[in-house]
Amino acid sequence: MSELYRSAHYTVSATQLSQLPPDSGFEVAFAGRSNAGKSSAINTITGIKALARISKTPGRTQMINFFHLDDERAMVDLPGYGFAKVPKKERERWGRSIRKYLSERESLRLILSVIDARHEPSALDQDFFYWLASNEMPFCVLMSKADKLSNNKFAQSKKAVKNILAEMNIEVPILGYSASSRKGIPEIQELIQDFIRE
Ligand code: GDP
Repeated sequence: MSELYRSAHYTVSATQLSQLPPDSGFEVAFAGRSNAGKSSAINTITGIKALARISKTPGRTQMINFFHLDDERAMVDLPGYGFAKVPKKERERWGRSIRKYLSERESLRLILSVIDARHEPSALDQDFFYWLASNEMPFCVLMSKADKLSNNKFAQSKKAVKNILAEMNIEVPILGYSASSRKGIPEIQELIQDFIRE
């Protein structure tokens, strides 16, 4: 299994939907606010340390970055939402593009919504969950930085997320992980594999 992830490599950054690679194959997209832990998740899942650093290159933070595993399968790093430095108009334009990508992309099999385990999902996170669910998109919640909480605190945090989702009538898998200890990473690798195989 990890063979597949080890061959991950950066392929494309798209600033506009017209620049996306052909819509064939299988994709899993990582979404979440800036700093949630998306790039670290991609690096840790693939075991390639600096892979998603590309997303941190100034100018690239507002792009959709593709990391292909092979000719058919890719992991996609979406621009973080709630990035205060980006002007509002720009954010709105971009939000529309991202929603269009998420709702129209046929290759997209799974969306991983990354949140920081230490904080309750923000209003933006909750809106995003709701939007995904109302559009019937397959998604899971990944709770990052689990190493920063005791097992007890993490369990409480996860319960709180579960309750917030339940209030919106949403039932999706919630997985915790740590990019520093790799705890929870094998489960995420398996989950992704389930969605991106033929
Ligand atoms: P992104 O903006 O969503 O791509 O977030 P990053 O992956 O850049 O992570 C933001 C910060 O959180 C960085 O300083 C990471 O080192 C840190 N970070 C991300 N995941 C973890 C984790 O699981 N554990 C710990 N301790 N730090 C993490």
